[in-house]
Amino acid sequence: MSALPTFEDVQAAAARLAGQAHRTPVLRSGTADALGGGARFFFKCENFQRMGAFKFRGGYNALARFTPQQRQRGALAFSSGNHAQAVALAARLLGMPATILMPQDAPAAKLAATRGYGAEVITFDRFKEDREALARRLAEERGMTLVPPYDHADVIAGQGTAALELFQEVGELDHLFVCLGGGGLLGGCALAARAMSPRCKVYGVEPEAGNDGQRSFRSGELVHIEVPRTIADGAQTQHLGQLTFPLIRHNVDDIFTASDAQLVDAMRFYASRMKMLVEPTGCLSLAGALACGLDLQDARVGVLISGGNVDLARFAQLAGS
Ligand SMILES: *Cc1c(COP(=O)(O)O)cnc(C)c1O
Repeated sequence: MSALPTFEDVQAAAARLAGQAHRTPVLRSGTADALGGGARFFFKCENFQRMGAFKFRGGYNALARFTPQQRQRGALAFSSGNHAQAVALAARLLGMPATILMPQDAPAAKLAATRGYGAEVITFDRFKEDREALARRLAEERGMTLVPPYDHADVIAGQGTAALELFQEVGELDHLFVCLGGGGLLGGCALAARAMSPRCKVYGVEPEAGNDGQRSFRSGELVHIEVPRTIADGAQTQHLGQLTFPLIRHNVDDIFTASDAQLVDAMRFYASRMKMLVEPTGCLSLAGALACGLDLQDARVGVLISGGNVDLARFAQLAGS
């Protein structure tokens, strides 16, 4: 097993990302504060990041660390979501080839966006083919380097720069809520919190229908589940990783869940009150903060909004219902 990333790795990632990733804004909302029982919320808006989600941070950091030989052959990723676009964009910026494996029934807009960044997209039948085996075989045949979506030290360190920027901008916090899928974002952000705001409690929030992270965290055993049915498509992961699980066990205070109905409420809130589009998975952190039952009165609370990639028809269908 490779070594766990450290806060120094997050700082090194921040230096690599300077001038490449956007320094996303931190927004406030008096209405949100009231909804949170007198909390003082600080929203770190990665929905405004390049390609629309924090995943650009980890993807770029991982590719920037390739050796010259790895750069020549390029990066390979499998993803139907934001990681695909992150690796495609990072590869283009770093001048290397990228191949992305996507399910043939992925939304046309996502296939087009990934191709638009210049990546070669290879589709597969997700009901018939094992994508991990396929990805490994392709990587080997082509000499490309496989970049996993969360269980990779450089990816985790890159994701942690989102929280690093938040603490740099607003100082110490009492609580930090982070959207949780496979745990790359939460693991990296927890490293930043431990170093920059040691008393800050850090929480992951995952979909209620897929609470493998919560069960793993609380039991100490890595729990695997079936693909959960939830509108939070960026958090339909089946288990935490070999790196993210120990990182989260050591550095995170608890894991909460949010229902799809609570995600829709948060999505409507962001659109109507804060005038911004947040994808269902990006709503986990606020939904969790409002549903967790903690007393947040007068507390300084960070809410990491992870992404904003939801097509308008889907948004209208969810928010209008
Ligand atoms: C990938 C993703 C997540 C989950 O991130 P992990 O590092 O897998 O925990 C959350 N929100 C959005 C928008 C994502 O794309």
